[in-house]
Amino acid sequence: MRKHTAIKMNAKSSLKIISLLKVINYSIIRQGKNTQSDYGETMFNWTIKEIELPLKFTWNISRNSSDIKRNFIIELKNGSLSAKGEVAFNVRYGESRELILEKFEEFKAQAPADFNGVESLVAFMDSMDLPQSLKFGLESAFVHYIAVLSGKTVAQLMGTNTVSSVKTSFSIPIMETGKVESFIKDNNLHRFSVIKVKVNRDNAHDFCKEILRLTNVPLRVDANESFETAAETLKFLENFPEIKRLEFLEQPLKANLHDEALELKKHSPVFLMADESVTKEEINGYYPERFHGVNIKLMKAGGYMRAVKQLRQAKLLGLKTMLGCMVETSLGISSALNISGGVDFFDLDGCLLIKEDPYNLVIEENGKIFFSHIL
Ligand SMILES: [Mg+2]
Repeated sequence: MRKHTAIKMNAKSSLKIISLLKVINYSIIRQGKNTQSDYGETMFNWTIKEIELPLKFTWNISRNSSDIKRNFIIELKNGSLSAKGEVAFNVRYGESRELILEKFEEFKAQAPADFNGVESLVAFMDSMDLPQSLKFGLESAFVHYIAVLSGKTVAQLMGTNTVSSVKTSFSIPIMETGKVESFIKDNNLHRFSVIKVKVNRDNAHDFCKEILRLTNVPLRVDANESFETAAETLKFLENFPEIKRLEFLEQPLKANLHDEALELKKHSPVFLMADESVTKEEINGYYPERFHGVNIKLMKAGGYMRAVKQLRQAKLLGLKTMLGCMVETSLGISSALNISGGVDFFDLDGCLLIKEDPYNLVIEENGKIFFSHIL
């Protein structure tokens, strides 16, 4: 019965999206006529800008370490209107600075002067094999542009619900166990109601034990694929000091260890969250066999449309959902807030890890993230 209702609601939401997209198309066509006569032939002007984001501390996880994050900002201009989208590329998914720049130039060279709505932009990008984070930067700039043009919020355009604030976890990167106490103090982490702990298979036990000792909140442990077998992961869980405080274990195994993941779920005493195992693909029956929840990120999904679809597919399969992020500015984080309604967990601390946020589109207070502006 509940499933039936969910499907009905989904169909209703889809109709809502279709009718809104028609409105959007109409607005663009009208604007297009004005623009062409006012500003000449070219309708959309896409640009890309690299931004350097020094981090508050060394970001060390199982696969790499950095002190500065380099992202890109896409800007879409049409006459006096403009809007931006962020590209927080990730080497884990085969993305690099050079690839983003090269593929952006390819997109720009081949893109038509305008797009007849979000769906035609998405179809065009899919035909080009672009990196997912670049697709998100382009699609979100376009959607944000339409929001400005139509006077609607992004949530209204996408047929999604947003919420006024979300409780986010804050991530403690891998460091020497002896340094955690001052890290927690220096970054005032007691304001967060849940802490995420980055581990690798060598430090996991001692690191978690120390953080459990220094805090009194639940932990989310993220191994970033560093465990090699189900048995090894189960042993870690068996020896976990206060298992009731472990909210979930995120991606312990490499994404290609499909059988080990099956085995792990059969015996795991805790909730398992997929992260690197979730990319741009549909959320299908593969996931509930191996995980209890999925970490959806706009930069992995490659767009609002696909992320919303993944969230809905996950819910229909009975999976818990989490909205996550990369290290990114509040432009990317506020984008995630746009689709936050009905999501179970949030891990949106990306803009809290950088020294200076160039956009200030969100505010964090006592571990909660809010939009900094009236929608
Ligand atoms: Mg993760």
